[in-house]
Amino acid sequence: MKRREFVKNSLLSIAAMTSLKDLHKLSDSFPVTEEKMPVLFVGHGNPMNAIEENEFSKKWEAMGKELVKPTAILCISAHWETRGTFVTAMEKPRTIHDFGGFPQELFDVQYPAPGNPELAQTIKQEIKKTELGLNQDWGLDHGSWSVIRKIYPKADIPVLQLSLDYTKPAQWHYDLAKELAALRKKGVLIVGSGNMVHNLGMVNWKNLNGPGYDWAIEMNEKFKKLITENNHKDLINYTSLGKAAELAIPSPDHYLPLLYTLALKEEKDSISFFNDKTLAGSLSMTSVKLLPS
Ligand code: ZN
Repeated sequence: MKRREFVKNSLLSIAAMTSLKDLHKLSDSFPVTEEKMPVLFVGHGNPMNAIEENEFSKKWEAMGKELVKPTAILCISAHWETRGTFVTAMEKPRTIHDFGGFPQELFDVQYPAPGNPELAQTIKQEIKKTELGLNQDWGLDHGSWSVIRKIYPKADIPVLQLSLDYTKPAQWHYDLAKELAALRKKGVLIVGSGNMVHNLGMVNWKNLNGPGYDWAIEMNEKFKKLITENNHKDLINYTSLGKAAELAIPSPDHYLPLLYTLALKEEKDSISFFNDKTLAGSLSMTSVKLLPS
């Protein structure tokens, strides 16, 4: 059979089987990629990592080479807290320099990745737990661009952000994140960006590259153990993990993105850690990769 006839016959038989409405459904449900995408939690740390060549940013660069190229990236950044939950839905998200006291070179950075309003709409439809708002004002804060520009320097992949509703408890965030699972099959790389151990009030400013305090090291090890054991219950109930956890998580903003990543863990995903290090006394850069087997 000639190709044209084959195509024509195939289309006729598909048309016989399905109505136009079903065809739309069919195309919606086609996975963009064959494989399920990995999920990351990235410890972003100091905004200077965005422009420095150091052990952390080098690892981010290496990840860009080893990961499958996604169709889009959805970042849950510690730096976008809102009342209610929003997803960025603009065509061209701006680069937000949401920090002070850094060199001009860092303020000059632009990460001109496009947005994807259709994907924002799809995510809104996936989420049943809350009324997801489509946001036109935010853009990309440094929690997302400082890391993503090193992983994907070409800025040719659409990047969206999902905000953290600061009025909700940890369990609520974990449950919401589970509703993002279908995106992994549409080629979307979901990235939680925060720091497992993050106490800015106790940072050792005199030795920013120095080791973590004992309690920071203790919590870094504890978090890794609980993550490896899939003990999400204890990780969600982090306020019951004792004094070291209280010091590690004085406020939930940098910790909650980790729960978004873990909520997406499926049975066959392998868990690995990268940039596993405490520093500046009260920070941990330890990051998590969930990889489908
Ligand atoms: Zn931060």
